[in-house]
Amino acid sequence: MIWIVLLLALVLFAALAFRGLGFLAWIAATGAALVGWRLAGGAHPTLLAACTILALALAIVFGLPPLRRRLVSRFVMPVFAKVLPRLGDTERIALEAGTVWWDGDLFGGMPDWQKLLDFSPAPLSAEEQAFMDGPVEELCRRLSDWEVYQQRDLPPEIWRYIKEQRFLGMIIPKEHGGLGFSAIGHSRVVTRIASRSVTAAVTVMVPNSLGPGELLLHYGTDAQKQKYLARLARGEEIPCFALTGPEAGSDAAATQSEGIVEKRVIDGVEVLGLRLEWKKRYITLAPVATLIGLAFRLKDPSRLIGDQEDRGITCALIPRATPGIEIGQRHDPMGVPFMNGPIVGKDVFVPLDDAVIGGREQIGHGWRMLMESLAAGRSISLPALSIGAAQLATRICGAYATVREQFDTPIGRFEGIEEPLARIAGKTYMMTATRTLTCGALDAGEKPAVLSAIAKAYLTEGMREVVTDAMDIRAGAAIQKGPRNALARMWDAVPIGITVEGANILTRSMIIYGQGAIRCHPFVQHEITSIAANDLTAFDRALFGHINLLARNATRAKLLAWSGSRLAAAPRTEDTVRYYQHLSRFSAAFELLSDVAMGTLGGSLKRREKISGRLADALAFMYLASCALKRYHDGGKTTANYNLVRWSAEHCLYRVQEALLGVLENLPLRPAAVLLSWAIFPLGARFRPPSDRLGARVARDILEDREARINLTEDIFVPPPGEVGLGALEAALTKAVRAIPVETKLRDAVRAGRLDRAPGYMLDEMGRDAGVITPDEYKLLQEADAARNEVVAVDAFDPQTFRTLH
Ligand SMILES: Cc1cc2nc3c(=O)[nH]c(=O)nc-3n(C[C@H](O)[C@H](O)[C@H](O)COP(=O)(O)OP(=O)(O)OC[C@H]3O[C@@H](n4cnc5c(N)ncnc54)[C@H](O)[C@@H]3O)c2cc1C
Repeated sequence: MIWIVLLLALVLFAALAFRGLGFLAWIAATGAALVGWRLAGGAHPTLLAACTILALALAIVFGLPPLRRRLVSRFVMPVFAKVLPRLGDTERIALEAGTVWWDGDLFGGMPDWQKLLDFSPAPLSAEEQAFMDGPVEELCRRLSDWEVYQQRDLPPEIWRYIKEQRFLGMIIPKEHGGLGFSAIGHSRVVTRIASRSVTAAVTVMVPNSLGPGELLLHYGTDAQKQKYLARLARGEEIPCFALTGPEAGSDAAATQSEGIVEKRVIDGVEVLGLRLEWKKRYITLAPVATLIGLAFRLKDPSRLIGDQEDRGITCALIPRATPGIEIGQRHDPMGVPFMNGPIVGKDVFVPLDDAVIGGREQIGHGWRMLMESLAAGRSISLPALSIGAAQLATRICGAYATVREQFDTPIGRFEGIEEPLARIAGKTYMMTATRTLTCGALDAGEKPAVLSAIAKAYLTEGMREVVTDAMDIRAGAAIQKGPRNALARMWDAVPIGITVEGANILTRSMIIYGQGAIRCHPFVQHEITSIAANDLTAFDRALFGHINLLARNATRAKLLAWSGSRLAAAPRTEDTVRYYQHLSRFSAAFELLSDVAMGTLGGSLKRREKISGRLADALAFMYLASCALKRYHDGGKTTANYNLVRWSAEHCLYRVQEALLGVLENLPLRPAAVLLSWAIFPLGARFRPPSDRLGARVARDILEDREARINLTEDIFVPPPGEVGLGALEAALTKAVRAIPVETKLRDAVRAGRLDRAPGYMLDEMGRDAGVITPDEYKLLQEADAARNEVVAVDAFDPQTFRTLH
């Protein structure tokens, strides 16, 4: 009897805790256990009375905040102050930048799927669509990336067209002469251009991302906006933004570039200005820039503008013509010929009020400006470029694996090729889905700093993986550079995406998890700030909210694991409901593990980047899976999309599992790790990567003329059939597909013994001569062969030309 009662009490506890009612759960369960115990005759009345009083006392102490503060929180606060990470100024500013959105749900352990499904990302406006169909298509048509490589720059007429059509002013509102595009509009433009020319895409991308335009829009004075925005939108000013220097790469706040406040007499007039000294490198567009956005440390040793010497990181605009600037040299970023180079400033004097973005009010707020801009901006430029590469790889590889035959078989039919093909298609689906949702959030007014960092790091990694797989599929044809080989140029660009706007290793460990854990966790940031402000009431609220959350997630993680995630609330009408449930389970497990990692490692978690990196992977793959599920929900519930969403979700769930297991295996406090393993993976690691059978379906869906290949690559530019490279490949694919039924006829005849076995090229003739195929069908085969030969050809150059190539 006693066991039944205790079991019932446990169930009551679990049920209440599962829904997040932690304290109520404890009190109700303790009461139920005691009463049951007594009824079962299992307790001495005195012991029962003592236990009841203790339970009541605990319930009162923990249930009444004023009492709790006096008796518990007051003593816990100093302990937490020692354990919790201390935030430096730059970290605090980074944490305060941007907003928390779906990342908060994933971190909280109980994602509200209905909220995600109800969210509608804004589509392209009619104007944006017209721009895509007009100027973007025209720009792509005019671009020859191979020529751009050989000339080491965009041709003057392309520069002119880019400026005329206001490609450089996509983020500038119409009232200032720009295009005023949404995030998704801006991103789609960059993707299409990137699929044609990375050089052109980077050239368009930079003025529309962190730099003078964006900083002026958000922080500039009216006079500065009037002076520059329209000129920037029309391309009359070419901007660059110089943050990175030799001493300050990832640790950009450590910049040694300085601006000293001083007065100089110019043309007989005394001017309060800045004397700037800087050394910057890797600066995109610098060699052709006319307006330099500069980040530097502002110092006022003579106290001319206040009583503080070091005023902190500040951003200013410096016209190129200002004396003292050395600019124009070019770096060579992996041979991709966009403009990139160093800038040095020696004794550069500019009037303070004109130059500092936002005027005196914004002195010292440069770091905040950069963090706030990156909170949104990271999700646009490099993710868009990565999607351009992934979609191009899908389009090319699906066609090439159909057209290219070895052993008389299209290579796409070999299981060995199916594997990378499936990865290319699955990742392209997932990456595009991530862009749609993240840009949708931006267009809805969010600035999701952590999700933007995830999009930047994991989409550029996705680009690296997809392009590597695509190179393997194309093999020799991928390696020989020339106008036929668009993929090789993507290969060159991979490390650029990985490095720029926060190199990925740092982004993964420090930004996504390190800052994300504090930013997205429902209580940790409140605990840290309340301790810093010595606010006991706020600390008490955060601490007990946190304990409640921990109780809930410990229970949820365990019950969801035991039940195969079936107890998780999820949109039941979805045919993908099980994936939602598994993600809910992992979300609870992630929060629990995260709390234990923070609790046991304290401030040192910052340095344990292998742990925080794996936690970042878990969070990122939960997000990527959410995006894929959302994409499938929002449209196109075709069989091909069903295969793709299953592949994406299974890939992500497996990656989440591996990341969590990696943390558990390496958590220094072993007893905690063992207990957690028991709670999170009681039945062991049961998730597997997508099966071979599913992979085969996904791969086949992008072969031949199937719709999935077109749908997956709707954002890219497809050149006309007469053009070497993708254009000719598309034309060859059409012919190869037309020939498939004829080839099948021949194979059937061989199987039936009506034709002898022979190599393909002989079989065609034998089939015609034996009357197995008609002369017209024979002609179809010949045309397909000719087209095949054309697209498997690679470029070759005479030695003289070769010496001039890039
Ligand atoms: C093509 C190109 C264009 C660029 N354009 C611009 C531009 O227009 N304007 C501009 O200001 N900058 C620009 N950059 C600079 C770019 O943002 C930096 O290269 C980047 O921030 C990394 O700095 P770094 O190269 O000095 O690497 P480092 O800072 O030396 O980093 C080296 C490695 O260490 C890792 N690392 C560093 N700190 C940590 C840490 N705490 N934890 C874990 N890992 C860490 C990094 O992830 C990286 O893998 C550009 C760079 C390139 C290559």
